[in-house]
Amino acid sequence: MSSKLIIAGPCTFGSFEELYKNASMLKEKGIEYIRAGVFKLRTSPDSFQGLRDEGMEMLFRIKKELGLKIVTELTTIEQIRKYGNLIDVIQIGTRNMYNYELLKEAGKCKSTIILKRGFSATYDEWIKAAEYIRREGNKDIILCERGIRGFSLETRNVLDLQAIPYIKNNTDYRIIVDPSHASGHSYMVEAMSKAALAAGCDGLLIEAHYNPIESLCDSEEAIDMDTLDRIIDYSKKDI
Ligand code: PEP
Ligand code: MN
Repeated sequence: MSSKLIIAGPCTFGSFEELYKNASMLKEKGIEYIRAGVFKLRTSPDSFQGLRDEGMEMLFRIKKELGLKIVTELTTIEQIRKYGNLIDVIQIGTRNMYNYELLKEAGKCKSTIILKRGFSATYDEWIKAAEYIRREGNKDIILCERGIRGFSLETRNVLDLQAIPYIKNNTDYRIIVDPSHASGHSYMVEAMSKAALAAGCDGLLIEAHYNPIESLCDSEEAIDMDTLDRIIDYSKKDI
């Protein structure tokens, strides 16, 4: 049986109750890693920006009470100094792939780092960004393909599945795929997850919510728990 890294959870959350309900459902499915953003980098300053430090405390409660590992995006050097070694996985988002000082600070932490591909980054730029982290001592790096900008307005981004064999063939890094931010549509997420698994990725980072329309952010792309079950089943198959 192949073992894929499945990270799932809400884009962000507005209360502990919402987070807890999502987290306990993920735990029931055997998922070990919950994703949930608290420092949100939103295109519009009018959009919900996350619960920030208060949200981080809620994530620590989830870790303590449910034993789930925490995956969350850190966006500043100060946040990395404060929380970098307290969470299990530091997510560096697409907007920050080129923020080399931030990458260097992340490289000083012991936690696993997920480095998302910049939405207009070449493979070479992405791999060199990972090198900024690695040179500081942290070699526990996972690259995440999350879609690149295309010209089609019908999807949020274009999922570049070719990144999977490229990274596997040319680097030692693991590569996971985020089909949620790639497509921007919940109905595409199952098909793209399966395609990514078939192409040989090491895991998936997926936005899921017990009631997607309630999501405070990215509700159009969040999948429900039944869809997540099907993806988990598929991920256990030998493809
Ligand atoms: C996220 O995964 O929460 C996120 C904001 O993704 P990205 O940086 O890929 O847009
Ligand atoms: Mn999101």
